[in-house]
Amino acid sequence: MKLCLLACASLCAAQSVTINTGTLIDGKGGVQRNVVVSVEGSKIVRIEPAGPAKSTYDLSSLTLMPGWIDTHAHPNTHFDKNDRFVDGNEPVEQEALYEAGNLLATLQAGFTTVQTLAAPVDKTVRDAINAGALPGPRVLTSIHQIHDNSGDPAKLRKLVRQWKAEGADVIKIFASASIRDGGKQIMSDAQIAAACGESKAQGMRAVVHVYTADATCKVILAGCTGIEHGAFLDDATLQLMHDCGIFFDPNYLVFHNYLDKKQKYLGIGNYTEAGFAKMEQVLPKLGKALRRARAHQVKVVLGTDANGSARPQLRGVHLPREGGRRQAHGCGPERDFRGRVARAARQDRDGCARL
Ligand SMILES: [Zn+2]
Repeated sequence: MKLCLLACASLCAAQSVTINTGTLIDGKGGVQRNVVVSVEGSKIVRIEPAGPAKSTYDLSSLTLMPGWIDTHAHPNTHFDKNDRFVDGNEPVEQEALYEAGNLLATLQAGFTTVQTLAAPVDKTVRDAINAGALPGPRVLTSIHQIHDNSGDPAKLRKLVRQWKAEGADVIKIFASASIRDGGKQIMSDAQIAAACGESKAQGMRAVVHVYTADATCKVILAGCTGIEHGAFLDDATLQLMHDCGIFFDPNYLVFHNYLDKKQKYLGIGNYTEAGFAKMEQVLPKLGKALRRARAHQVKVVLGTDANGSARPQLRGVHLPREGGRRQAHGCGPERDFRGRVARAARQDRDGCARL
């Protein structure tokens, strides 16, 4: 029986599929028309002009593109039976089930890779998906988060090494406070140097929750690779990001989700009236930072920071909700639709194109 299963697994892995497509967005910024994509196992091996041969799938009247990548999400969070926000204060089995459901819905919306930033349960769910026990997108996760109270510089360096050994795909660092608390730098310069420096030394991508230009400069110079939020970035910092190849992930959906569903959050922790006012005020600033980032040709990726079961939707060739939100702030998502697919794929770094 074991031999039979192994044989089946290797046959399935080697299975060839061809897809005839009218329009192909290739994930590298280009578009091709009337081509056949050949897939063997999980790899795209060939793209060639369509011929008379019958393909496995005929999508000649449709557009084919790589799966979307959400570079920042919290699929473990959700709303409870009283319609209130839940972020980890529940039995881990329950948290895992909600996360599995959220990830499946995200996959069905067109996102084949989701980076979760993060909760320990992310690793459990990621490993179950990788083992084939659950359907879902590929999950990359930081498993944990570094905060200002996570320890002194030596402890932070140790945590980075420990989490890498534990299987983290990325390191998540909170250099700034939540925008609901003003967004000022909260980690010390020494903590930033240790967390970003050790991540770089360990060859780990490190993405940082940060708002101000000054703190952003520090995390970049210390070796971190991605900026989350960044609403108060100035031209000099954006130019530094461009020059250092730093990814910018401004995250719109998260604020609109909070504002749209305010009653589900209000009264929990810093989800106060004052906190909601700050989130409303930051949106135009975020739009300005994104427009400036484009002017400096910074690599902008698509992260939603989705929580509370918020899910980016992708139906047909419509843009996902995050893109729609950016357009509402005057940022014109169609203009770099193809570019964002390509940049997210580059940030993913392992070069594995997925359908
Ligand atoms: Zn987040």
